[in-house]
Amino acid sequence: MKRNLNQKLISLVDYYSSINADFLISNNPLIRKSYSVSETISGTKSEKLEKLKKKIQLIKNCELKKNAKNLVFSDGNINAKIMIIGEGPGANEDSEGKPFVGRAGKLLDKMLTAIQLDRKKVYISNVVNYRPPNNRKPTELEIERYLPYLISHIEIINPKILLLLGSTALNSLVGNDVVISKARGKWINKNIGTSKPWIIASFHPAFLMRQPEQKKLAWIDLKMIREKLRVLKIH
Ligand code: URA
Repeated sequence: MKRNLNQKLISLVDYYSSINADFLISNNPLIRKSYSVSETISGTKSEKLEKLKKKIQLIKNCELKKNAKNLVFSDGNINAKIMIIGEGPGANEDSEGKPFVGRAGKLLDKMLTAIQLDRKKVYISNVVNYRPPNNRKPTELEIERYLPYLISHIEIINPKILLLLGSTALNSLVGNDVVISKARGKWINKNIGTSKPWIIASFHPAFLMRQPEQKKLAWIDLKMIREKLRVLKIH
């Protein structure tokens, strides 16, 4: 019994060391390995996206995938200059296989309309591409697992502006040492793989539905995007 337990502990330690999961025992902010899978992807933009989608479909032993109905890859215009990243699909997105089609998506559409944008002018994806059960947040391990695909996705789209909606998108791509309440509404200087977009974070529409008084801050962020579009002459 004791030997069995020891053996299990040793296997667990081996497993977490092999995936470099120091964050489980450390107080330091998690520094994610930010590699992409793009080197092995070639072709036109749409061919690259199709290949990336296939790679995600080949992911093995993933709890998210096992419980989800559909892969939720993206929506919008692949040539858009603005890419928007949410957290992960909810029930509606899982059923339709498209990001932001539920209530949060309707609010996102309104936010976009407020700065003369719509889904034909933006490209939308999420940190994880399968619905987390019961709408829970994706775990650190799940985020880590999907991050190389997300980075490749951004590299392929190569947007001029990258809008990160909520803390999961912000922390996954910018780091765990930033908080959304402080980082929102500021241009963030960071390369994402080979892509060098202007990055800005704002509140997630689902959060804004719970805390409508924060919409005034989201409006400030949207106006910053509108101004950047003007300066960069993006129509
Ligand atoms: N919330 C997200 O973060 N993404 C979606 O696609 C839908 C809701």
